[in-house]
Amino acid sequence: MTICYFCENIPVETWFGSFCSDCRKIKNIGNIYGFKEIKLVLEKVCIRNEKQRQFKIDSKLKESETENDTITCGVVTRSKMP
Ligand SMILES: [Zn+2]
Repeated sequence: MTICYFCENIPVETWFGSFCSDCRKIKNIGNIYGFKEIKLVLEKVCIRNEKQRQFKIDSKLKESETENDTITCGVVTRSKMP
């Protein structure tokens, strides 16, 4: 079976097709909105620059510090209960 030309990972939908079902959907979205627009959205939404990554790291570290404080003082709020 032929592998998808786009993701190069998953078998194609049909024997005469070129794309897997997910990549076919991406291609259809690209056909509607334009591939340049899709690329810009992916770059702006999915790709984080160093400053944005550091902000995420800092916020996660702050979260874990807050959780550790909760455990240290033995107080577990309802919102923190599993
Ligand atoms: Zn694919």
